[in-house]
Amino acid sequence: MRIDIMTLFPETVGDVLSESILGRAQERGIIKIVCHQIRDYTTHRQKQVDDYPYGGGRGCVMMAQPLHACWEHICREAGRRVHTIYMSPAGKVFTQADAVRLKNEYDHLILVCGHYEGVDERFIEECVDEEISIGDFVLTGGEIPAMAVADAVCRLVPGVLADEECFENESHWAGLLEYPQYTRPEVWNGRRVPEVLLSGHHENIRRWRRKQSILRTRLRRPDMYEKLTFTDKTDLKILQEIEQELASGDGSEKKE
Ligand code: SAM
Repeated sequence: MRIDIMTLFPETVGDVLSESILGRAQERGIIKIVCHQIRDYTTHRQKQVDDYPYGGGRGCVMMAQPLHACWEHICREAGRRVHTIYMSPAGKVFTQADAVRLKNEYDHLILVCGHYEGVDERFIEECVDEEISIGDFVLTGGEIPAMAVADAVCRLVPGVLADEECFENESHWAGLLEYPQYTRPEVWNGRRVPEVLLSGHHENIRRWRRKQSILRTRLRRPDMYEKLTFTDKTDLKILQEIEQELASGDGSEKKE
């Protein structure tokens, strides 16, 4: 997977994505993330990349010319038109399913980071294939959203994480939230790790985690819970237990 990020702050983005797991994956050549300084592509003498909005109003809009020249450069080097995503609060809200789709359908992506009031709409019409938002709020720039999307997609690429199990039990993979996690010591600040996790009984641990996962989703994300269908016998038994506990007023997230 290769991801090219178009930004006015390439150092910041590059530094973050070169750390830890993604950094090691880049060193091993499994993924490649390249940041481009949009300002390098402006034909303006003062290196200007933005201008006032037509129609009036506050702020500045990023000009189409440098964005287009930067985008063309990346596509020319790739030898083809690369699937291009504009990070935008007006885009479709990004989910784990989008991360999986992008990883499965493309081996090369361009992420465009806007700034100021956004980018000239004509660049979007000409070069952008989809617009993605990371949530219903507005940030000052598209750099954090681009880093979030690049991270979510790249960690799904085979070889980036130790194995697929690393993300297959995680929140949002199968419509559930993950169970609570603990590490050493067994007692911290008077709080004990749930006994079952110390038992070494793998089946009991698996069942406990499944129950916590279902309960947590039921309590925290009713919107996700509503979409789930359970057919497995153990799941049905767990659901029964959860409903009984909730009905008896003992329905908080239980650690044991
Ligand atoms: N005027 C724009 C609007 O109201 O839709 C907001 C512009 S915002 C201040 C500047 C840039 O930050 C955008 O061009 C976009 O690239 C990025 N951005 C801000 N919020 C975002 C979000 N929730 N998701 C993705 N990108 C976002």
